[in-house]
Amino acid sequence: MKLYQIGIKVAAFLCFSPPDMLFLTGMKPVNPVIIPRAEHSVSRSLLSPNAVRVLYRLSDHGFIAYLVGGCVRDLLLGREPKDFDVVTNATPNQIKKLFRNCRLIGRRFRLAHLHFQDEIIEVATFRSKAPGETEDEPQPEASDTPAPDAAEPRRRHPEHLKSADGMILRDNVFGTPEEDALRRDFTVNALFYNIADFSIIDYAGGMEDLSRGIIRIIDDPFERFTEDPVRMIRAVRFAAMLGFNIENLTWRAILELGDTITRAAPARLFEEVLKLFLAGCGERTYQLLRQTGLFAALFPHFNNWLAEETDGFPHTRVGQALDWIDDRIRMGEKVSPQVFLALMSGRYIEEKGEHHRRAGVPPQQSLDLAVAEFLGELAPTVMIPHKTGILVRNILAYQHRFRKTPGKHPLSFIGRPGFGDAVDYLRFDCGITGKNRDALSWWESFIQANPLPPNGGQAGEQAPKPSTGTGRRKRRRRRSHGREKPGEGPEIS
Ligand code: ATP
Ligand code: MG
Repeated sequence: MKLYQIGIKVAAFLCFSPPDMLFLTGMKPVNPVIIPRAEHSVSRSLLSPNAVRVLYRLSDHGFIAYLVGGCVRDLLLGREPKDFDVVTNATPNQIKKLFRNCRLIGRRFRLAHLHFQDEIIEVATFRSKAPGETEDEPQPEASDTPAPDAAEPRRRHPEHLKSADGMILRDNVFGTPEEDALRRDFTVNALFYNIADFSIIDYAGGMEDLSRGIIRIIDDPFERFTEDPVRMIRAVRFAAMLGFNIENLTWRAILELGDTITRAAPARLFEEVLKLFLAGCGERTYQLLRQTGLFAALFPHFNNWLAEETDGFPHTRVGQALDWIDDRIRMGEKVSPQVFLALMSGRYIEEKGEHHRRAGVPPQQSLDLAVAEFLGELAPTVMIPHKTGILVRNILAYQHRFRKTPGKHPLSFIGRPGFGDAVDYLRFDCGITGKNRDALSWWESFIQANPLPPNGGQAGEQAPKPSTGTGRRKRRRRRSHGREKPGEGPEIS
């Protein structure tokens, strides 16, 4: 690919900027590489029409408007972007004035969400990678707008805040396009697409890394992973997703700092774990997480249990579960967080349950205890919401019911929320162990004769009862007037 090096002075951006923008200068300007439209493959026809509308509205009002991040990276690679992120020199309040469908969100990182019928376009204001105060120093109250006084010393700015150990707590100091590019995580994520002339602007060497298939953190890896340990997981995610290699220094820093992933908030780590394993390349991700030590740091107890096995079976099972999930996702199916968690750690939870059963605890309580223990072990690192924990528990509990064919009230059973998830688990388990084949084929025939409700029995919504005949309709009417609502009923073990 031909790259054109054209110097653009930061002053050129500054003269476009609205007066209430806080620009922090002092960094040595970097001349970006500009790739003109004729030299790259990103065409407007590939963009979301809503994103194009947003870019033009900002630029028609005199603001800089770029696409940035994953969408530019993916378009250049010929992949379909997951979402479109816009970056501009308009402040959040200026964005709000321009778009009626705007909602400002976030405290740690304030930005605008523009709501369209079928998508949300995220619009952020250029940020600076300003060195901030530590949380030990007194902080003025955070505000929605950038500080108006650009002459204010950088270290005292209230909108950029680091913890005593160097983690970014708040990142709301606005800056230049160059500063914004350089405070992003990886070079391939720092490319801008400029709606003004359809060029790509590259401040960090992202084009070259993109063509060589390299994930490289911008700037000093130790500092950047200390600022935000989640970037280590992101490096693994992008490497697995794009089939890229992690650059040497970046890799070494992850090996050294892997344990510090636990400094990130457990709720955020749960979201990140889902992104890691539900992107369609979970198996590759798993291998990279294990090689870097991040898997052991995220799931310490589960990892110990995996290591204890002598015949290697559980390791194989996790890999097989992730393979199975990857296949589903590649076929365009959705895999829920609870199915992922049950497939990955179901055997581990069941083993805990068996332990309680051997100690004389009844089966249902044993499973409840085992799930609670699993959630409790993980809580300091990866916080699984209680609701998701219950859905995992149901998937495992339903497996016992599957073995009884037909058992009591099979029609009521298939209408339960989470039934589809539980069948998925049975299909996977049967596929790899060969057990319960007869039960699976009985339930599959039964489902065929009595189709699942429109949501396929996935948990989350109340699934309506299947409508397969007058007799059942009558019974449903009676129930809705009585004790049992659709989808409810005693748990089955
Ligand atoms: P995806 O395809 O998963 O959406 P993405 O690269 O768009 O990938 P997002 O989480 O949507 O990832 O973030 C958008 C952009 O914001 C990134 O490309 C990157 O430039 C920047 N970014 C996101 N998280 C961080 C972070 N923790 N540190 C620095 N920059 C980040
Ligand atoms: Mg994105």
